[in-house]
Amino acid sequence: MAKAISVLGSTGSIGTQTLDVARMHGLKVTALTANSNIKLLEKQAREFMPKMVAVLDMGAAAQLKISLSDTNIDVFCGEEGIKKAAQEESCDTVVNAIVGVAGLLPTLAAIKAGKNLALANKETLVAGGKLVMKAVEDNNVKLYPVDSEHSAIFQCLQGCPDGALKKVILTASGGTFFGKTRDELENVSVKQALSHPNWDMGAKITIDSSTMMNKGLEVIEASWLFGCSDKDIDVVIHRESIIHSMIQLKDNAVIAQLGVPDMRIPIQYALTYPKRLPSPTKELDICRIGKMSFFEPDYDTFVCLAVCRDALRRGGLYPTVANAANEAAVDMFLREQIRFLDIGDIVSEAVGSFCDDKKDFTLEDILEADKQTRAKVREKFGHISL
Ligand code: NAD
Ligand code: MG
Repeated sequence: MAKAISVLGSTGSIGTQTLDVARMHGLKVTALTANSNIKLLEKQAREFMPKMVAVLDMGAAAQLKISLSDTNIDVFCGEEGIKKAAQEESCDTVVNAIVGVAGLLPTLAAIKAGKNLALANKETLVAGGKLVMKAVEDNNVKLYPVDSEHSAIFQCLQGCPDGALKKVILTASGGTFFGKTRDELENVSVKQALSHPNWDMGAKITIDSSTMMNKGLEVIEASWLFGCSDKDIDVVIHRESIIHSMIQLKDNAVIAQLGVPDMRIPIQYALTYPKRLPSPTKELDICRIGKMSFFEPDYDTFVCLAVCRDALRRGGLYPTVANAANEAAVDMFLREQIRFLDIGDIVSEAVGSFCDDKKDFTLEDILEADKQTRAKVREKFGHISL
């Protein structure tokens, strides 16, 4: 079980819920980081008194340094500062709750410093899964999934004998636009796309849920975590988000993990594994749920899911490209520079036009593919104003 944690992205949805868990179990917090929200970061720092905090934005970091000058907390800035937080000496576990591929370098820094990882930042595995899994092995550290589906699978796998896993079944809420046709999605607004039926999450992942890119990213994430290929990962729409995912074993027995939709369960399990401790979440009242529904995903309308599966099958840098195109497209959609359906088209085009069959690639190749893909997307669509 983790004793001292550094929380990267502590001001976000996963970050704040991680601190709920830390508060409840008296975990020591050694470092906190944020992009620019120094008001909340200062409040968190005063409550948990970490050794250090880091802020990506230089100006905001300078301001925070002044605000925290009456404490012994060191304030660092920029990517180097966040890396420092990932390597903070007295921590044993790093919770990576940064959004986007920006989490990749801090993940690698933490692993190389010998820290265990509680990983919410799925983009880390999508863009750099091969390097990350190798670094985990080489440095003999543990990687615990925080994403609810992957935590569910990890929980289902406890007690499952080696070699008995046949496939994993990822559940998906279907997002806010479940059942809609492409025509109906033509003019949906940012506000509509940002309202999720079951989960309260950061903006980027909420949009990813509405396009089903999130499930596509999770298929790739699952392939790295559980050593499965695309054909061994099923996706099923389950509107109520009560079953968080399932595994099917060689004898066709299916094991599922259920609970109220509250990320503090998977966050806590990643921090307390193998222990099961009381949780700040509510109990599941299964009779009140009454019934649960399941559907096949609509791969034609929600093209991102199909494109991610394609990228996974192609391997190499294709998942990196799919992720980068999506991050750039979601950013433009949130700024109202492109329409909702453009996101899927942009990700499809990026993967379809990418050509590189190198199976052996370096961190530099990943960062370059990410950068070039974003630049191409912005060049093509960034000037458009709706
Ligand atoms: P969020 O937007 O609420 O929070 C993101 C955090 O990262 C904030 O603290 C922000 O300050 C920081 N940040 C943003 N950009 C950064 C950058 N470039 N460098 C350093 N820090 C930066 O996001 P979230 O919803 O908490 O999601 C975080 C990660 O967890 C994502 O990868 C997401 O896919 C994953 N995840 C989230 C949920 C959820 O319920 N929110 C569930 C499963 C997985
Ligand atoms: Mg998830």
